[in-house]
Amino acid sequence: MAAPELPGYRHIHSGKVRDLYVPEADESVVLLVASDRISAYDHVLSPPIPDKGEILTQLSLWWFDQLADLVPNQVISTDVPAQVAGRAMLVRRLEMLPVECVARAYLTGGGLSEYRASGSVSGVPLPPGLVDGDRLPEPIFTPSSKAPQGEHDQPISYADVVALIGADRAAAARDLTIAILARGNAIAAERGILLADTKVEFGIAADGRLVLADEVLTPDSSRFWPAAEWEPGHPQPSFDKQFVRDWLTSPESGWATTSDAVPPELPEAVVAATRARYVEVFERLTGRSVVSAGGAPAAG
Ligand code: ATP
Ligand code: MG
Repeated sequence: MAAPELPGYRHIHSGKVRDLYVPEADESVVLLVASDRISAYDHVLSPPIPDKGEILTQLSLWWFDQLADLVPNQVISTDVPAQVAGRAMLVRRLEMLPVECVARAYLTGGGLSEYRASGSVSGVPLPPGLVDGDRLPEPIFTPSSKAPQGEHDQPISYADVVALIGADRAAAARDLTIAILARGNAIAAERGILLADTKVEFGIAADGRLVLADEVLTPDSSRFWPAAEWEPGHPQPSFDKQFVRDWLTSPESGWATTSDAVPPELPEAVVAATRARYVEVFERLTGRSVVSAGGAPAAG
């Protein structure tokens, strides 16, 4: 899935999921196009997940609105070329902070592994005896480095963040990240969903303010759990990309996260089940439906 050619736009970057363009007429903005690509363990997998790009873009736009009173965001408009309609937004071109801002309300995944090894996550000490899926006494900020392409992001401490971006910006990024997760949980709770953790990215606007960028509270960047089935002590069922990670690390896939080999093709059933999870979380959160078979989610 190469980045599409868009007349009037210059392609400037492709991440694992998004393709970035700059309009020839205005270098201060970016066209952020979410593809259907899915990544896990820093590998882009094949095949793509149908409609995923639209779901991520429409869900992020919905959340940017829900969070608008908490934090300024990158969005300028959704008036984009027809070829990428639904999956793209025109955004402010920001100087991105070199930090992945992660907040956790529940303990699982990489945070749980760190906790088991050290009793803390990104240098934040936690009470003893916590198990997989436990709710934390309060949400914590557990940043990671933004690794160059092909390398893995690494957990870093708050002191590392201060060293990277300064004390004032570090405190602002930490407080905003935790506030976004808390607001997200308050809203998701009304829809029977727990938000275990999330990653956000901030950029610096021309006036020096932090602006929420990239994507927000999507199943690519967050863990969503059905509240009714929450039971600490084992992995939780989830509406996010955990399903793909679980398949990749199962004996069935024959692949190890530590191997340098290209991950295997996702079976059709894994693609379909992953798409169903993205659709379900989108529909439960927004109350809107994803129009099937390649269509963009309904507007409104
Ligand atoms: P990488 O780009 O390192 O591969 P990734 O795979 O997560 O990371 P994507 O999510 O596919 O990347 O692409 C989004 C890219 O665009 C990221 O590098 C992100 O930091 C950058 N980005 C997001 N929003 C903005 C913005 N408003 N201005 C400039 N860059 C942005
Ligand atoms: Mg990304």
